[in-house]
Amino acid sequence: MTDPASLQPWAEVDEDLEETVDGEDVDTIGSEASVVGIGSTASGFPETSWARFQRLAALGIAPQWALVPLGAAACWLLGTALLSSADQPGLPRMHALGIGALMVLAAGVVLLGWLARRGAMSNMLAAMHPNSTAAPRALDGLTGEPELQMIWHRIEQHTENVERRVSELLEAHRQTALELNLVDTQRKQAIDVIHAIADPILAVDAFGQLIHANPASEALFGFEVGDVLRKPIGEVISDDRLLRVIRQSREADTRAAERRLILENGEKLYAATIIPISARRVGEDDGSKEHGVVAILRDVTREREASKKKSEFVAHVVHELRTPLSSIRAYVEMLVDGEAADEHTRKEFYEVIQVSADRLGRMIDNMLNISRIEAGTVRINKEPIAPSLLVKEAVDVMRPQAEEKKITLTAHLTPVVYRVLADRDLLYQAVLNLVSNAVKYTPEGGQVDVRMTPHEENRTIEIEVEDTGVGIPADDLPRMFEKFFRVEANKKMAKGTGLGLNLVKKIVEQVHKGTMTLHSEVGRGSKFGMVLPIMP
Ligand code: ADP
Repeated sequence: MTDPASLQPWAEVDEDLEETVDGEDVDTIGSEASVVGIGSTASGFPETSWARFQRLAALGIAPQWALVPLGAAACWLLGTALLSSADQPGLPRMHALGIGALMVLAAGVVLLGWLARRGAMSNMLAAMHPNSTAAPRALDGLTGEPELQMIWHRIEQHTENVERRVSELLEAHRQTALELNLVDTQRKQAIDVIHAIADPILAVDAFGQLIHANPASEALFGFEVGDVLRKPIGEVISDDRLLRVIRQSREADTRAAERRLILENGEKLYAATIIPISARRVGEDDGSKEHGVVAILRDVTREREASKKKSEFVAHVVHELRTPLSSIRAYVEMLVDGEAADEHTRKEFYEVIQVSADRLGRMIDNMLNISRIEAGTVRINKEPIAPSLLVKEAVDVMRPQAEEKKITLTAHLTPVVYRVLADRDLLYQAVLNLVSNAVKYTPEGGQVDVRMTPHEENRTIEIEVEDTGVGIPADDLPRMFEKFFRVEANKKMAKGTGLGLNLVKKIVEQVHKGTMTLHSEVGRGSKFGMVLPIMP
């Protein structure tokens, strides 16, 4: 774009005009200006004596003044002719000389007048020179020339008009340059925004040529934007469905109609939205119904996966809830039908109902906690707590069950000076789940050790629950913290929901910014650990 400041010729003209035409100075004709003018030429050079003579002559000598000596000469001649007698033929010598002198004087006056006019004209021309600084004094040389003065005034008026027009045009040019600059900046910003968008975007004009494409679309369609701009879109992308919808949208009568379609690209899934655009301004109509379109492709692979997982989860939950519920219903029906003949059988039935109801309750609690943590709606009440107290409480709660299975349950606690910023209830539930699992999946006579180790070097504390239980197959280890995952081989050891470990991981990693560890070997036992940051 042209920088207005670089338009030197115009600027010079502008300045010259300002210097050349000055109304105030023109008004001072014959006053100060005439004094200033003497001794220098219109163009500012030292004045020659001839030029000075011309200037002085111009002050009072006009060609018509030659009529005075000419008239005098004519009168003299007439008088002499009338008064001379017949006996004195011819002019006496003295009269002839006088008349001749008067005619020479008339010729001199004419010459001086001519020279003065010429001098005034050349002064005027010099003052009109673009580099002249003597314009305000130009009138000094025109004192005896009313016509030239008028011409000069007209020229000045005209110059003023031209100057005004030129400055108006310069102002308009400056405005246009500013507007152009603004439009250019907005265009660049719009392109930057399109480039910054992570979703692939293609813009196609009314002729089906690609006019914009962002880097995200380069990766998806495998082209270099610089190589494909202004090419027909059909040569740039190969997806027939997308091409067809772009063409339909371009040719459609209604410009408001958006079109959508789902595109598959390998393992990725894209939701494409094709929006008609028009380069024409409102009210403009060139008769053609075709217009440009913008295609925005949004990667919906993860969304689809998430919604698929959600449906699977719901199906799984329904299935898992149905199992204990069916069991409760079946036993209640048997009790109602009087199938439990004796007290012992009835007690057995009640116990089954109680276990199933407990399982149902646990499952619902776990699911609620998990989904609340996932959704970020769980009420977290963090406070400084000594984890050793909490671990001791969990171990004490599990001790009766451990004793029932003749399992040695030991706890190696750290001093209470080590504190973590934690939600007491959630962290207690996590520790209890690990100790409970260890007791559940350890056969009679086994051992469960709960060990706490502070790591001063990285300001963490580790809580490990190690058992001598059945262990976990290596293939299953990566899936241990998945929702509803249960080790097939261990199912017969204890009833469960497959939600406990998922909840533990969420409590440790999501709520307390800690990490989970797991080591296990089939037949030798497992070691679950949680590493939590210690309070400073
Ligand atoms: P649940 O115990 O209710 O089934 P969890 O999420 O707590 O659910 O555990 C998931 C699965 O991990 C269990 O079904 C079990 O197979 C396995 N598991 C958990 N802890 C242990 C352990 N200490 N030893 C062996 N297997 C375990």
